[in-house]
Amino acid sequence: MDVNQLYEDYPLTRRMQRGEEVIWFNPDSGETGELPFTQENTADAEARLRRFAPYIEASFPETKEAGGIIESPLKQAPDMQAALEKRYGRAIPGKLLIKCDSHLPVSGSIKARGGIYEVLKLAETIAAERGMLSAGDNYAILTEKRFKDLFSGYRVAVGSTGNLGLSIGIISAKLGFDVTVHMSADARPWKKDMLRSKGVHVIEYPEDYQKAVAEGRRQAEGDPTCHFVDDEGSADLFLGYSTAAARLKKQLDALKIAIDTEHPLFVYLPCGVGGGPGGVTFGIKTVFGENAHCFFAEPTHAPCMLLGMMTGLNDGISVSDIGLDGKTAADGLAVSRPSRLVGRVMRTLIDGAFTVEDEEMYRLLGLVMDTEQLTIEPSGCAGFPGPPRVLSDAAYLEKKGLAEERMKNAVHLVWATGGNMVPEEEMEAYYQKGCQLMQE
Ligand SMILES: *Cc1c(COP(=O)(O)O)cnc(C)c1O
Repeated sequence: MDVNQLYEDYPLTRRMQRGEEVIWFNPDSGETGELPFTQENTADAEARLRRFAPYIEASFPETKEAGGIIESPLKQAPDMQAALEKRYGRAIPGKLLIKCDSHLPVSGSIKARGGIYEVLKLAETIAAERGMLSAGDNYAILTEKRFKDLFSGYRVAVGSTGNLGLSIGIISAKLGFDVTVHMSADARPWKKDMLRSKGVHVIEYPEDYQKAVAEGRRQAEGDPTCHFVDDEGSADLFLGYSTAAARLKKQLDALKIAIDTEHPLFVYLPCGVGGGPGGVTFGIKTVFGENAHCFFAEPTHAPCMLLGMMTGLNDGISVSDIGLDGKTAADGLAVSRPSRLVGRVMRTLIDGAFTVEDEEMYRLLGLVMDTEQLTIEPSGCAGFPGPPRVLSDAAYLEKKGLAEERMKNAVHLVWATGGNMVPEEEMEAYYQKGCQLMQE
C-alpha cells in the first residue's frame, strides 16, 4: 500500500492517522447502485422470526410480553438532547430519540438481531431437512428433547469481540447445538464467564478480533457438521439486522412521528465490522428512502469502515495501514478491517461516518445515565455526537436540500447498541470514569 499516495488522495486520512476526531460525507450517497439484497429478503427474514416467536417466547420468558419478538424500546430523549446541546455548544433543532438496543432481550446488544437470526435459520434448515419441522408448525415444539438431541449432533462456531459471541452462544446452547466462541483479547471477562456458565466452549486468544475470526473459521473448515457464523461477510447476519427498520417504522407511527420530505430522519449507528449498522441502514433505506440519512460512528483508533468506504478499498485496507493500532475501550467496535460484504452494499446508501475518542464515549455514557437513566456500554454511546457533528456541516445540508426550515422538524435517532447485560459493578466503574472525565 502506497501510504503517501493515500494521504495525498484522501487528506482526511492524515488527520485520522493522528487520532483526531473526523467526519466524512459520502459523495456517492443517493446514487443508484446495484444491491445484492432486496426488500423481499428482509421480509423473508421477518417472516422467519415470526415463525420462531412461539419458540422464543417459550424459551426466554423476558420476551413473553412482546409475544416472542425480540425488539427494543424507542425512547424520546429531550433531557439528553439538552445535555448534548450544552456539551457541544450547538442547538439541535427537532427531536432526539434513542433506539435502546442496549436493552434488547436475550443478549442485551444489537447482536441479538443478526446473531440470533442466523442460528434460528440454521436450526430451521436442519430440522426441515429431517422432516421434523415445516413452516406451518408451532415452533414451540423446538423446545422438545428430540430437537435438542438432533441439534447436539451439529456444531456452531463464531469469532467475536464479545457481544456476537454472547448472542450466538446463548441461542445456540438453548437450542442444543455444540457451540464454540473464539474470543479476542478485548472481550470482557464477564462475557466469557457467562457463556461458560451456559455450556458454551470459549477459546481465548491474546490477539485481536481478526485473529479470533480467522481461527474460528479455520477450525470449522473441514467439519461438515460445523456452521461458522462469519461476522466478516454473512448475508444472514446482515438480513437479521435489516428487520429492525420496519419495526422502527411501527414504533415511530405509535409515537405519531412522521418521516417525510419535511421531516427528515437522521440515524447514528456505532460501527465495528459493519454488519449491524449496515444491515439496519439497508432496512432503513428501503423503508424510508431518501428521507433517511444514516451515519456510522467509529472509535478514533479503529475507523475501519470509514477508511474502507472513503478509499473504495473496503476490506482491502486496514487501519494499521495508516498507523492506527485498532485498540479501543469500545470493545464492540475494536475492528481493524471492515466486512468484505458491507462496504460494497453501503456504497450508495450510507451518508457518512465519523469518529469519536474513547474518553468522549465514557463522558456520553455518564450523560445518558444522568439524563435518561439508561445503562449503555461505551461502544453503544458512539452515536451521540452525531447530531451536532452533522449539523455543523452547512455544505452537506445544503447539498441534500436540508434547509433550516426542514431541519427544524428533523428526527435524530441515536442507536444505542449495547449495555443492559453489563454487570452492575462494571457499569458503575464506567460511569465513575465518565463523571471524572467530565470534570477534567
Ligand atoms: C457489534 C457491535 C456494534 C457494531 O456492529 P458491527 O456489526 O460489528 O459493525 C456496535 N455496538 C455494539 C455494542 C456492538 O457489540
